[in-house]
Amino acid sequence: MQATNPAAHPLYPRLFSPLDLGFTSLPNRVLMGSMHTGLEEHKDGLRALAAYFAARARGGVGLMVTGGIAPNRQGWLAPFGAKLSTRAEASRHRHVTDAVHDEGGKICMQILHAGRYSMHPMLVAPSPLRAPISPFRPWEMSPRLIRSTIGDFADCAALAREGGYDGVEIMGSEGYLINQFIAPRTNKRHDDWGGSFEKRIRFPLEIMKKVREKAGDDFIVIFRVSMLDLVDDGSTWEEVEQLALALEQAGATMINTGIGWHEARIPTIATLVPRGAYAWVTRRLMGALRIPLITTNRINTPEKAEQLLNDGFADMVSMARPLLADPDFVKKAFEQRAPEINTCIACNQACLDHVFRQKDASCLVNPRACRESQSVPPQGTGRKGKKIAVVGAGPAGLSAATELAALGAEVHLFEAAKEIGGQFNMAKRIPGKEEFYETLRYFRNMIEKRKVALHLETPVDAGLLIGNGFDEVVLCTGVAPRVPRIEGVDHPKVLSYIDVLLHKKPVGEKVAIIGAGGIGFDVATFLTASEHQHTVNSGEEAIERYREEWGIDPEYRHRGGITEQETADVPRKVWLLQRTKGKIGDRLGKTTGWAHRLTLKHRGVQMWPGVQYHKIDDAGLHLTYQGQAQVLDVENVVICAGQEPLRDLYGPLVEAGLAVHLIGGAKEAAELDAQRAIAEGWALATAQ
Ligand code: FAD
Ligand code: NAP
Ligand code: SF4
Repeated sequence: MQATNPAAHPLYPRLFSPLDLGFTSLPNRVLMGSMHTGLEEHKDGLRALAAYFAARARGGVGLMVTGGIAPNRQGWLAPFGAKLSTRAEASRHRHVTDAVHDEGGKICMQILHAGRYSMHPMLVAPSPLRAPISPFRPWEMSPRLIRSTIGDFADCAALAREGGYDGVEIMGSEGYLINQFIAPRTNKRHDDWGGSFEKRIRFPLEIMKKVREKAGDDFIVIFRVSMLDLVDDGSTWEEVEQLALALEQAGATMINTGIGWHEARIPTIATLVPRGAYAWVTRRLMGALRIPLITTNRINTPEKAEQLLNDGFADMVSMARPLLADPDFVKKAFEQRAPEINTCIACNQACLDHVFRQKDASCLVNPRACRESQSVPPQGTGRKGKKIAVVGAGPAGLSAATELAALGAEVHLFEAAKEIGGQFNMAKRIPGKEEFYETLRYFRNMIEKRKVALHLETPVDAGLLIGNGFDEVVLCTGVAPRVPRIEGVDHPKVLSYIDVLLHKKPVGEKVAIIGAGGIGFDVATFLTASEHQHTVNSGEEAIERYREEWGIDPEYRHRGGITEQETADVPRKVWLLQRTKGKIGDRLGKTTGWAHRLTLKHRGVQMWPGVQYHKIDDAGLHLTYQGQAQVLDVENVVICAGQEPLRDLYGPLVEAGLAVHLIGGAKEAAELDAQRAIAEGWALATAQ
């Protein structure tokens, strides 16, 4: 999709203005940022990646960057990770580049050497210091190895060109090898490659020069600079600026923004991070360079992107996960159909959490992501002529109803409540999870666009469905909260999470939460959030509050841009309890669980594992913790003890001879989450 008169775009004039890079130009200001999907390591993964990138090129993205590819074996992220160091490997990349070019798109390949973050024993780094997130201690690189590694970067760039790429991105941030050379935290050398700042940046500058020499002048080279390390002994702002200037002189086409090392204990892309929370970092560099600057992190709507470009935060905007969530993001924005965008909610559940567990990435709100090469029935055909009842408009029902309607079925969606959403109507109320509103907005639009007949405030019984001409029934009636067998569980001070989050029942100043799963954590977050956090969740004020809470210094007074965290203003005292021994929150998301735990720790929440519950009475919650029987004199006890499936309708409907499908919580409550609920809706509809 090319913008014919882009400057005149009525809604997003900046976003749709072309970017002139001298030897080439980009049709708009959207860069699809690098994301590892796991497909890179599959035997035939480049074909699957070709379909994945082709879909995004068709969707109109200005420029895309692949996941990280190592320039040599030592740089592998994990054993047998993706690498480009031979011509045979380069030729296989033609699957990807040809597919993208056929759709009129442009694509760069990211070169990433993991250094001490490599998950294999042959890892190397400027100094032999183990990363706090790695089990392995790296080998110190000899000057000879440093020189050959620079050569490998340059050869890799030349091979990427041979493989048809329009350019490369050199990964110089997030704490990977290049970043490890730049920062005094990890570079303790005393030779020509360490010590003074000039020596520490010699490695990235030599790489930049050699890459330009080998790959030619008419080749895009993006350098991703770590502009805010968020770790002790990271770079100073002056160093960031000097490095960027030197990279420009050494031939970089554009500078991309990197935020935070992987070992930093500050969340940088999770949903609790306000939108555009790091654009201020890129803005500090605006005006210092002649080449374009790209800003990044938690930009997920065209409005936010346009505002940042318009307010001079950057020349281009990088979005990675939002394009996983919706390959047509750019096209929909261009056609003024932004309400139809399936917005990334920054949950990390199906993308980063999967990759960190060595599973293929996908997307919670878009189960098709990374499965673009699998065949599905064409729109409007698969279920034509069928009349289908979908019962329950939670995530499972919304997904099934809208996908079935897209395939041509006449769909009736029944919901007992006044609004669609099921449990998402509680999730969206948690401060820091407001993005869940966007998923509901998306489904509301899809219901309308695909002409699903929505029946709100309609609790379904079997009589409503039997004899009404339905060919199939999809039961998505969800779950009911589990009531644990504890003496006094019916005491007036006991509340369920539904009472607290949905019915807004008043809660006292001392509270015990029984159950420390995802919902227990969310309830603890809700109950300990300040008035301000409940009411201001976007814009500059929210960003300022987030910086204070996590100790991020916009003045950059210390190396790495970090400072003391400010003490949170907490309205009540909370105990978060579980019976299982071991770490509280161990089953939360791999890439976000630590941030949820830190949030609660900072708010003074007592997190107690290995608890035995005895009874609840006027005195409070009687329990044993660490071998000691005691009474927590709490005003309320909130039960978050998991859930049971709700599927009373199943038996009578099957008995009446109807074809009934069970999905989501109604099918299985254990380990249920929205990712599974939405994926089951999609899978049911598209099964051939
Ligand atoms: P539900 O969401 O429970 O929807 C069932 C729907 O069916 C309801 O709307 C109900 O009213 C309706 N219904 C029931 N019976 C009838 C009937 N007879 N007739 C008509 N309608 C009926 N998951 C994640 O993956 N990530 C998160 O971050 C996350 N956060 C959460 C935070 C909170 C506070 C909560 C409560 C849940 C959270 N979840 C999260 C869990 C997620 O919301 C659920 O897994 C998901 O909603 C299950 O979807 P479902 O459609 O199966 O059921
Ligand atoms: P959950 O994760 O299964 O947690 C249930 C909690 O209740 C556990 O801590 C469990 O711990 C406790 N429990 C279970 N049976 C109990 C009993 N009989 N008596 C007392 N305690 C009991 O379920 P959930 O918190 O209800 O969440 C539901 C689903 O939503 C989960 O699958 C979750 O992944 C998803 N969710 C995800 C997020 C997210 O941020 N990703 C947020 C919210 C919800 P013990 O057995 O050790 O006591
Ligand atoms: Fe965004 Fe969550 Fe999808 Fe990842 S899984 S792309 S974070 S919505």
